[in-house]
Amino acid sequence: MNSTIKRLGIMGGTFDPIHYGHLVTAEGARFTFGLDQVLFMPSGQPPHKKNARVTDPEHRYMMTVLATLTNPYFDVSRLEIDRGGTSYTIDTLRALHQLYGPATELYFITGADAIFDVASWKNADDCLALAHFVAATRPGFSLVDLPESTRQWVARHQERFHILKVPAMAISSTEIRERVREGSSIRYLVPEPVEHYIRRQRLYTQELPQSRASCAK
Ligand code: ATP
Ligand code: MG
Repeated sequence: MNSTIKRLGIMGGTFDPIHYGHLVTAEGARFTFGLDQVLFMPSGQPPHKKNARVTDPEHRYMMTVLATLTNPYFDVSRLEIDRGGTSYTIDTLRALHQLYGPATELYFITGADAIFDVASWKNADDCLALAHFVAATRPGFSLVDLPESTRQWVARHQERFHILKVPAMAISSTEIRERVREGSSIRYLVPEPVEHYIRRQRLYTQELPQSRASCAK
């Protein structure tokens, strides 16, 4: 049990690949909520991407490590990757609660887009009981447009639900994968070591990278 950490941020994602939008969001949350550490949590198979091909977890893990190395507050967890199968947030929060103990407050960090379907997450209410939710602003996803059911759900949990303004980065991993595929530059969209890794491992060069992709069910 790590009792030195009073407030732990969890930045979940597919990180296929990790980019500056993720990093600026995690750092914004760390600073705003006084987090002692932000744990980046590359998913095994994300439940909302079941019909998508996701790059081998070991590549996504490695890129996340490379991107976070220089920030002493950032760390990367293999929890969801090693658990295998579909990665549900509730299982991760329960595991972290167990690991760090009840004295550590958990802050689960997501971008605004992830909030749109939060009410349909597995055991969504239990997630909120275990962790604060931080919804970071993201270009293209206005929280004003939340569906009524989600709005009501957020209102019920407002003490544990926080909206965080972060510098707008209109980047997505989808766009980065497309750029690599078509030979466009990804410089300044991802940290340099991540760009080098993508080039060396020849990631994202084909529409469906069979040899390096784990096929989702
Ligand atoms: P993809 O296009 O493959 O879905 P992504 O860029 O959305 O990739 P994810 O790994 O799906 O990246 O996102 C992980 C988390 O980071 C999510 O909570 C997402 O909302 C958030 N996030 C991603 N990009 C940004 C961004 N540019 N600004 C703020 N939050 C972001
Ligand atoms: Mg996404």
